[in-house]
Amino acid sequence: MSQPNAKVSLRSVFKTIIWPRRKLIFIGLILILISRTAGLVPPWATKPFMDDILVNREMDKLPFLLTLLTIAILVQAVTSYALTKILSVEAQHLISVLRAKVQKHLLRLPIRFFDNQKSGALVSRVMNDVEGVRNLVGTGLVQLVGGVLTALISVIFLIYINPWMTLFVLLPMSIFGVITLKTFAVIRPVFRERGKITADVTGRLTETLNGIRVIKGFNAEPQEIKVFENGVEQLFKNIKKSLTSTSFVTSAGTFLVGLASVGIMGLSGYFQLSAGDFLQFTMFMVFMIAPIVQMSNIGSQLTEAFAGLDRTEELMNMPVEDDGTHRTLQIGNIKGDFEFNDVSFAYEEGKPVLKNISFSAPAGSVTALVGTSGSGKTTIAGLVATFLNPDSGTITLDGTDLSKISLGSYRNQLGVVLQDDFLFEGTIRENILFPRPNATEDELQQAVKAAFVSEFTNRFEHGLDTIIGERGVKLSGGQRQRIAIARAILANPRVLILDEATSNLDTESESFIQESLRTLMQGRTTFVIAHRLSTIRQANQILVIETGQIQERGTHDELIARQGRYYQLYTYQARI
Ligand code: ADP
Repeated sequence: MSQPNAKVSLRSVFKTIIWPRRKLIFIGLILILISRTAGLVPPWATKPFMDDILVNREMDKLPFLLTLLTIAILVQAVTSYALTKILSVEAQHLISVLRAKVQKHLLRLPIRFFDNQKSGALVSRVMNDVEGVRNLVGTGLVQLVGGVLTALISVIFLIYINPWMTLFVLLPMSIFGVITLKTFAVIRPVFRERGKITADVTGRLTETLNGIRVIKGFNAEPQEIKVFENGVEQLFKNIKKSLTSTSFVTSAGTFLVGLASVGIMGLSGYFQLSAGDFLQFTMFMVFMIAPIVQMSNIGSQLTEAFAGLDRTEELMNMPVEDDGTHRTLQIGNIKGDFEFNDVSFAYEEGKPVLKNISFSAPAGSVTALVGTSGSGKTTIAGLVATFLNPDSGTITLDGTDLSKISLGSYRNQLGVVLQDDFLFEGTIRENILFPRPNATEDELQQAVKAAFVSEFTNRFEHGLDTIIGERGVKLSGGQRQRIAIARAILANPRVLILDEATSNLDTESESFIQESLRTLMQGRTTFVIAHRLSTIRQANQILVIETGQIQERGTHDELIARQGRYYQLYTYQARI
């Protein structure tokens, strides 16, 4: 899927991130002003200390000077504490708000988006990419302003002491400034790329860990190790690139500062400066240069922040599956009459997966989709679930074009039970309740019974409150399916999509599942990718799908009598 290459502008960052926090940032600026002014007292104090006290022995000035210095140091300590506390907390708050916003948007993106993304990579984008704003709202930006301010005041002092020497210092510093700016323009894309590499490497690692059985089973560890090594190597190269640039800036800075210092020594001799003036000049010079060097650090943080925001923006710009403009119809309780009219669909242009599919599935009926793997059954189910939309033709629900119906109002009445059904870490009860957290205990118990979940939970010490997943009991495939079925029974949807597991179950589990599926399908418009003969026999219609078309349709008996494709599948394979 092509991704819009977003680039956040300074203006939009100012509008959305800085401006809403103007009060806090203003307080931050005042604090930094106080802190930096206090910071200028020590360099200023060097001259009276050298010339008046050490050289002229005017000892009566000493207590005043010491008191002033102590106050200045205290003020600096207090203000920098307050600054960090106020702004860093706000920055972390903003990070959490942004993460929540990105996750919310992510969940509203269409299934097609997720087909093309590694989940680990998306995790990294939600968690890491927004981190950078810490540098914008946190002390970074305010420090930058403070740095500029200190540098400016220092220049005024320097000019006051000796304008010619100041000019001499400013020249190498301007060169340094230009180098810094140019370098950061170069490394912004490097930072941007870093986010992407991190996401890819994290994504692959997550997949490796999730698929550890397959990897070990095929002895594919060396391959995974190689892929990961390449990933971290790429990351290393990226970091090296930015480190090379930043260390170049730092070295250029050190060199130019050194050059300026040598020159200053020479000029101080030439202008016959007093010891105090020389020391004061040098101190102010350091105070002017330090923020500039610091600014280069902050610059790199800000560059990183912008790179992260660019990537966040990219994600936020992706169109959501229902933005409320196309799917405007809110529907109430549906009957569940479906009609496919000449529906075609392709995942990739020019490679049609479904070709002119037409059929009707009346309310409450069961439609079984059978056919060889890759023939398009899941795609049909995906269209019914509105995970996909037809490229041409229409699907109507109770006579209304499904593509015009608001997703929320439709999916409310939809239930899915998939092959590798999704159970999350938590109790069995939580897993069943999750589509309807407010269901009563009675309703829950009914569903549990109908799906024969109690048949095995009764044997657990904690019953329905048994924790499953990483921290709890491991369940068999059949038990997992029964939980998924109980969940769907509880949700009580009008439309049901069922993807039957192909795996063999023991006969006992099989009969429990058959029984519970019967209860589940009753009275709902059901689309089932069927593998069990028992399910197929119950279907009101069977659609035999081959290469994206309906090759045969009818009931089990009709299709057997016809002795066509279905008959072939039925007789040559024990399972369909
Ligand atoms: P079935 O459920 O009958 O096994 P599917 O509907 O899953 O078949 O797939 C039909 C065809 O569409 C297959 O050729 C498959 O490779 C292709 N396909 C399925 N999902 C995608 C996807 N996300 N992107 C591209 N092609 C896909």
